[in-house]
Amino acid sequence: MNTKSIDFSRFSSIRIGPVVEVALIEEDVVPIDHVIVGSANNLLVSPTPPPLMILSKEYDFIHLEENRLRIGAATPGGKIVSFCKKKDIAHFEYLSKLPGTLGGMLKMNAGLKEYEIFNHLIAIRTQNGWISKEHLAYGYRSTSINEVVFEALFEAERGFSTEQLALFGAMRSNQPNESSAGSCFKNPTGDYAGRLIEAVGLKGLRRGAMAFSAVHANFLVNYGGGSYDDALFLIHEAQTKVLDRFGISLQCEIVLL
Ligand SMILES: Cc1cc2nc3c(=O)[nH]c(=O)nc-3n(C[C@H](O)[C@H](O)[C@H](O)COP(=O)(O)OP(=O)(O)OC[C@H]3O[C@@H](n4cnc5c(N)ncnc54)[C@H](O)[C@@H]3O)c2cc1C
Repeated sequence: MNTKSIDFSRFSSIRIGPVVEVALIEEDVVPIDHVIVGSANNLLVSPTPPPLMILSKEYDFIHLEENRLRIGAATPGGKIVSFCKKKDIAHFEYLSKLPGTLGGMLKMNAGLKEYEIFNHLIAIRTQNGWISKEHLAYGYRSTSINEVVFEALFEAERGFSTEQLALFGAMRSNQPNESSAGSCFKNPTGDYAGRLIEAVGLKGLRRGAMAFSAVHANFLVNYGGGSYDDALFLIHEAQTKVLDRFGISLQCEIVLL
């Protein structure tokens, strides 16, 4: 099996992690006991991660087939938006501001407010063949996907909206500019992780080069050269303080490897 050397301190959006020899998935051959990586926009990779794998470029494609879109799981969200704009296809505008590959977005049911990647999904293809959406469980930032997704099929309705594109761009204006992995914690039902972190006095708390952003408390940011241990310290600090004060157990949205 071919491998690829990835320096996670450069590749991951939070700029943390070692150099790892990652197995390359080609022609649907998946090595056992490996964890799949997309474009590492939601990952915190430890100095000793489990064996990792990544899809090869052959899974980066978009085909418009009548009223359906067939998209490879290694395809970046930005490329999907550009394609939809060119072909006048609706419902993917929000991906313009959501970094990641289709595989990572499907696993996380990524989205913005009520716009989620599962909304217009028809089916995914894994080693077990095509699985229709009805056979998958999904909710806010969670799905029952436990296999490598190779590709997926979506409804393709006409009507790309440049107004929506602008709206989603504006929604991002409250995000910090520093390196991060997006939201650190999932929002608990009826509340906001950022509000809770702020309420226990941790907004802006810094440890080494890592901090809960002073701009948006639920963003764990790296000012440059931040470490896994410092990130983990801050995560535990927030979980402990929020549990003690509010009885709420904050769940990580960031995936720790
Ligand atoms: C600045 C910033 C803003 C963000 N804003 C948002 C937001 O508004 N909404 C939101 O939902 N997310 C947001 N995120 C998080 C991130 O964009 C999403 O989680 C995205 O889906 C990650 O995709 P990825 O390819 O980078 O996946 P990775 O981070 O590499 O992996 C994420 C998870 O998906 C799994 N995975 C990856 N590829 C596959 C595959 N082919 N098959 C099966 N499982 C796979 C991994 O094992 C892991 O569990 C943000 C991140 C950043 C850095």
